[in-house]
Amino acid sequence: MVTTYQNWIGGRWAPARSGGTRENIDPASGELLGIFPRSGAEDVNDAVNAAQQALAAWRAMPGPRRGEILFRAGEVLVRRKEEFAREMTPEMGKVLKETRGDVQEAIDMTYYMAGEGRRCFGQTTPSELPDKFAMCVRQPVGVVAAITPWNFPMAIPAWKIIPALICGNTIVFKPASDTPKSAWNLAKTLEEAGLPPGVLNVVFGSGGEAGTPLVEHPVVDLVSFTGSNEVGRGIALKAAQLGKRLHLEMGGKNAIIIMDDADLNLALDGVIWSAFGTSGQRCTAASRLIVQRGILDELTKRLIARTEALRLGHGLDEGTDVGPVVNHEQLVKIDGYMEVARKEGATIACGGSIANVGALAKGFFFRPTVLTDVKRNMRVAQEEIFGPVIAVIAVDSLEEAIAVNNDVPFGLSTSIYTRDVNQAFRGIEGITTGLLYVNAGTIGAEVHLPFGGTRGTGNGHREAGQAALDTYTEWKTVFVDYSGKLQRAQIDVEAAKP
Ligand code: NAD
Repeated sequence: MVTTYQNWIGGRWAPARSGGTRENIDPASGELLGIFPRSGAEDVNDAVNAAQQALAAWRAMPGPRRGEILFRAGEVLVRRKEEFAREMTPEMGKVLKETRGDVQEAIDMTYYMAGEGRRCFGQTTPSELPDKFAMCVRQPVGVVAAITPWNFPMAIPAWKIIPALICGNTIVFKPASDTPKSAWNLAKTLEEAGLPPGVLNVVFGSGGEAGTPLVEHPVVDLVSFTGSNEVGRGIALKAAQLGKRLHLEMGGKNAIIIMDDADLNLALDGVIWSAFGTSGQRCTAASRLIVQRGILDELTKRLIARTEALRLGHGLDEGTDVGPVVNHEQLVKIDGYMEVARKEGATIACGGSIANVGALAKGFFFRPTVLTDVKRNMRVAQEEIFGPVIAVIAVDSLEEAIAVNNDVPFGLSTSIYTRDVNQAFRGIEGITTGLLYVNAGTIGAEVHLPFGGTRGTGNGHREAGQAALDTYTEWKTVFVDYSGKLQRAQIDVEAAKP
């Protein structure tokens, strides 16, 4: 029996008005997992109107009361973590320990932001005039459109929805078409926690049919988007024309730098986890390995051996190290980069092809791949491949490593392995990504610290941490003059002197 799911609009579950549907498919086996609405502009309009209607009451609710609802949501997520992870692996592909981590990120963010219900600190500061009080308080932006990718099906939606909620915004959420069940599970969690009708609305559908009308809807105040640069830039153009607030989290071309003096075992653990976890489909995945020449041969030899030992399979199987990629389109794109690599003179040292025999025949599997003889300007060293592929680039010095690291159109995450504290700090100083790890891989964000990237990765906003509050609130600066007379800032300053 395959279940048919519905949109959540104004507190009610309903199919798309057109009656259209889309199948949710397991990328490892081709199995049909569920049927979801294929929504269009009219469903988006219903959802945005519901969010607008719910806004006044939600923003008026005291922050601590909003926080209590989120605490209850956190409890539900903890209770259902294993169930949600076991439903996420079949729809997205990544192995169970990673989908457990995905749900855990949602739990962490929910508890963290629930606490913000009693903080959401503003500022007070002296006024330049006597008998005058100055403060800044946060206010919600309004109706938020949350548009998310498929690679972190619950974590990324939670990283947008939960901070937006605690700040008093209402939301229309359009999840990625490939991972609707995890989005549905998150919505059900918030419903069970007692979120009032219309505060969160979920519209399932494609980017073109549901995403575009959502971005363009005049009532939407802020668009918070995570996804590819291509789509993000298009949304940025529209948001600029329509005068909307915009928060963008986009692609990466992350690197691990390994210096001659590094602990190679430690570094290799970090490389395998960062390059091939989630089949390389993380925005923070390591897709370049910048290696100092003294250890190049040894490191490459050991990297190839460890990569070849990785076992492909269904993410629910205990023995699987690397699951499928999310869909056929991604598989073809990754495979296409092998031809690009060959033509540019790189060497495919291992992997480099689609795996489609035996138990893998019905899924979208790509063999974990190491590219060697890569030069810093090759396309495989510059473009986001978003698959289990790492390109090894040799350098002579730390200065060259930093220059190569920074010389890409993205700026999300970098890691540096060295046992020399001076080199580590020179790396911290010179590397210009938004995230930086010393002696750890490129993965490992924590919810209470800002997350995001420089250059083409973002537009200057950050997700998570206190920085998320800046994304989902507007500052209101308040002056209270209790002097009982007209006091003019900048003009009556002399009179205010003792
Ligand atoms: P995508 O850009 O194809 O889609 C992202 C979302 O946008 C989906 O919900 C999609 O339906 C929607 N969409 C597509 N076209 C749209 C349009 N014209 N208007 C409105 N919405 C539209 O990205 P993807 O393939 O789902 O995700 C992979 C990308 O996401 C990679 O580039 C990856 O680096 C990036 N990503 C970035 C971060 C980060 O925090 N920086 C995190 C995860 C993923």
